[in-house]
Amino acid sequence: MNKRLGQHFLINETAIKKIIAAMDLESGDIVIEIGPGKGALTDELINQLTGKTGYKKLILIEKDRDLAVNLYKKYSQNKKIEIISGDVLKDLPTLIHNSSFIIQNYKIIGNIPYYITGKLLRILSELEKKPGLTALMIQKEVAERIIATPPKMNLLAAAVQFWANPKILFTLKPNDFDPPPEVNSAVITLTTNNQQLTTEFTENYYKLIHIIFKQPRKTLINNLKSGLNLPKNTIENSLKLLKIDPNSRPQNLSLEQIKTLITIIQP
Ligand code: SAM
Repeated sequence: MNKRLGQHFLINETAIKKIIAAMDLESGDIVIEIGPGKGALTDELINQLTGKTGYKKLILIEKDRDLAVNLYKKYSQNKKIEIISGDVLKDLPTLIHNSSFIIQNYKIIGNIPYYITGKLLRILSELEKKPGLTALMIQKEVAERIIATPPKMNLLAAAVQFWANPKILFTLKPNDFDPPPEVNSAVITLTTNNQQLTTEFTENYYKLIHIIFKQPRKTLINNLKSGLNLPKNTIENSLKLLKIDPNSRPQNLSLEQIKTLITIIQP
């Protein structure tokens, strides 16, 4: 077991079935699994995909070389399965960018090492061709932050909810894994919302949320004042125009309010 790679293998059979069921597998699907490990999710995934006539492809990305070799021994006779011995954080953007077969829809699944959650979510948000559906096992507290709404809005929620609708499917206890992690876990699905927005709007949105949530305990007006090169009364007037209290905390802002703010304030 390689502790540095966050290896906690899923041993709860019911949970495995529930995660795969949440993938809503259809014929013609292309699925990417992150960190398949010893194949706990992979086996059920293949079972389900085989039941759907004509699934296209299953791509497994595993960083641990020994595990990747074993995956190769186990699955390489299946021509629909591709095994990549590599780091998802480096290889996913290139894979998506260069793959001619990923024309329309594809899905991502992964019981991931929890310390890569933030980076992986950022990579997903930046993909030009995003997965239609992503199902991830992550730390429960992080999952709760992702689905948060006012009055518990936060930077992570604002960043993820911009491109996806997140949902917690169920939670798991440490002893559902071998070896057990020190934290509780949750399975979250992210359904990509496919909104057509300009690059400029998207860039402004991400700039603005970093300004808004820079110091979450400060008031909205104070965060905006320190992050924007604008006079205080201009910001205050813009907020009032949108019926947003300048002295409220960033955690009270809704996603829609942040989006409308961009139309008035250019970060
Ligand atoms: N999917 C298996 C399961 O549910 O039993 C293993 C899950 S374990 C929590 C995480 C897996 O991700 C390990 O197999 C680990 O080697 C692999 N891994 C760690 N970092 C990775 C990375 N950056 N890219 C791809 N795989 C990674």
